Amino acid sequence: MIIVLEQKISEEKKAHIREFLEKRGYRVREIVGEVETIFGAVGTPGMDLREVELLDGVSKVVPITRPYKLASRELKREDTVVSVGPVKIGGNRVAVIAGPCGIESRQQIFDVAEAVSRAGAVILRGGAFKPRTSPYAFQGLGEEGLRYMKEAGEAFGLPITSEITSPAYVDMMREYVDAFQIGARNMQNFELLKAVGAAGLPVILKRGLAATIEEWLMAAEYLMAHGTDHVVLCERGIRTFERYTRNTLDLSAIPVVKKLSHLPVIVDPSHATGLRAKVPPMGLAAVAAGADGLMVEVHTDPDNALSDGPQSLFPEQFEKLMRDIQALTPVLGKSIEHIPRKKEPVELHSSAKTSGMDRAAFQGVHGAYSEEALKRYFREEYEPAACRSFRDVFEEVASGASHFGIIPVENSLAGVINENLDLLLRYPACRVVGETEIRIIHSLIAKPGTQISDVKKVYSHPQGLAQCEEFLDSLPGVQRIPFFDTAGAVAHVAEITDPQAAAIAGSAAADYYGLEVLKEGIETNPRNYTRFYVITREEHADSVVDISKAARVIMVFSTPDEPGALFKCLKILAENGMNMKKLESRPIHGKPWEYMFFIESEIPDVKSCSTACEQLREVSVDFRVLGMVEGVR
Ligand code: PEP
Ligand code: MN
Repeated sequence: MIIVLEQKISEEKKAHIREFLEKRGYRVREIVGEVETIFGAVGTPGMDLREVELLDGVSKVVPITRPYKLASRELKREDTVVSVGPVKIGGNRVAVIAGPCGIESRQQIFDVAEAVSRAGAVILRGGAFKPRTSPYAFQGLGEEGLRYMKEAGEAFGLPITSEITSPAYVDMMREYVDAFQIGARNMQNFELLKAVGAAGLPVILKRGLAATIEEWLMAAEYLMAHGTDHVVLCERGIRTFERYTRNTLDLSAIPVVKKLSHLPVIVDPSHATGLRAKVPPMGLAAVAAGADGLMVEVHTDPDNALSDGPQSLFPEQFEKLMRDIQALTPVLGKSIEHIPRKKEPVELHSSAKTSGMDRAAFQGVHGAYSEEALKRYFREEYEPAACRSFRDVFEEVASGASHFGIIPVENSLAGVINENLDLLLRYPACRVVGETEIRIIHSLIAKPGTQISDVKKVYSHPQGLAQCEEFLDSLPGVQRIPFFDTAGAVAHVAEITDPQAAAIAGSAAADYYGLEVLKEGIETNPRNYTRFYVITREEHADSVVDISKAARVIMVFSTPDEPGALFKCLKILAENGMNMKKLESRPIHGKPWEYMFFIESEIPDVKSCSTACEQLREVSVDFRVLGMVEGVR
């Protein structure tokens, strides 16, 4: 049952309720939500709920109707986010786990770890105990394999997961792995589930070969009832009559489970299809269907793999899949999970509150798209600091009041935000160290109770109004009122008492100001993205971007006034294998009809990039590197 406690209940009353329940054989879990605190009590069925309802401090008692209780969404409405080492699975992230089917040698797991970490995987997988159909097939290297994989994980900064096949291995394996994996064949090995659950580590629970969704959730319940809250469900295909693929990937299980349970769901397209060529399309389909991550088999030499070679991706295929996921995630309002960078050295961080180390500045009021981008990029690590103008964001960062700033640089429909390119030139103390993009989804927002037909005035940034033109045309007699920013328009509508007023902004702004979304997704063109740069002070840049991993460089220069001057510069890029992604020209302030060129280029390797920069410095004027980024987050 779910026991909703009264708000501001005393610890004493809570303890009393807990004791009452435990005496009657219930296990009690406390769940602290944003608005209310609840007790989830599981155990002895058949108790009269009214007895609990009468206790002091209890606001409401709700029975859990599902056979699984702790795993059920009835018990916990918010999505569970499972931490595996520094990596988070769940929420609006897509976390990719990759590695070989089995650990074959130290060299092999190091080679695969290198390849998958370079491509962006965040957890390394590899079997040390392989449950093979044939007793004569490769059975895995056992503990020796785990030792190799732990070393490889440490070398590349990846937490690791491996399948456990017997309760006898729990104590040994917990010394090595960051998450246990329960294989499909063991999904209903209840003694194993009890022992693994009691270890308290995160568990990736594969769906059984012929398990129903309810049986799968009951297996999760076993793990949770015995002591772990950190369960990740993994759909890996089920046995059907179809033989073209190894199994049949049940993609519809994703939305079904997401409705029934708060646990994150990932998908293993490798075992689901058994065929390398089918893995990327089904992996992408799984992400599109709402999976919180993927588990993919990758091998540097699949033809000679000791197990599951035919379904293992070559590193290049995996890299391509990661890039495609990268392109897909903004459409879904998600982002790819990255290994969080280690925080700044302690001496810098200890003065966090006074030096602004915990702040990241954005332009606009709370609920702005820039704040959404900032939260996407930094997750919970930095506190958003609202600034009035873009210039204030640069000031905050340059003065050290905020450690980071986020600035929009380009919108896929409206083009470049020139002001921010100019500010990058005017604030040489600020460096670009990161990049992120979000999909802009506009909503019509008004006071609770307002109907769309009541709306007669719509406030928003001119671009917000322009981007929703078709929708606004469908509302007869609506006045469009330009405002300085989208979320600011929502704050304004919240303040005034005008029943006919509404605003266009992101739905986060509605939550922030206590208003209601009347209609979401009203933009004429859904392919509306904004790209942001993350900036920090120059002296912090090296601790944020690992130059050996930098994928893009942003530079600026002007050219001598002579024939072929820009051509010479571009030739340098070409000769050094630098793939130019963007070229913008901006007028130089105070020098009419002279221009600075902004270039963004991919970096093939550190050496080519530094050679190109040296050569550019020679042939151009005022050459500067504005920053480097490791990739779009
Ligand atoms: C595996 O992930 O290596 C594995 C054996 O998968 P499954 O249990 O899903 O067959
Ligand atoms: Mn396998």
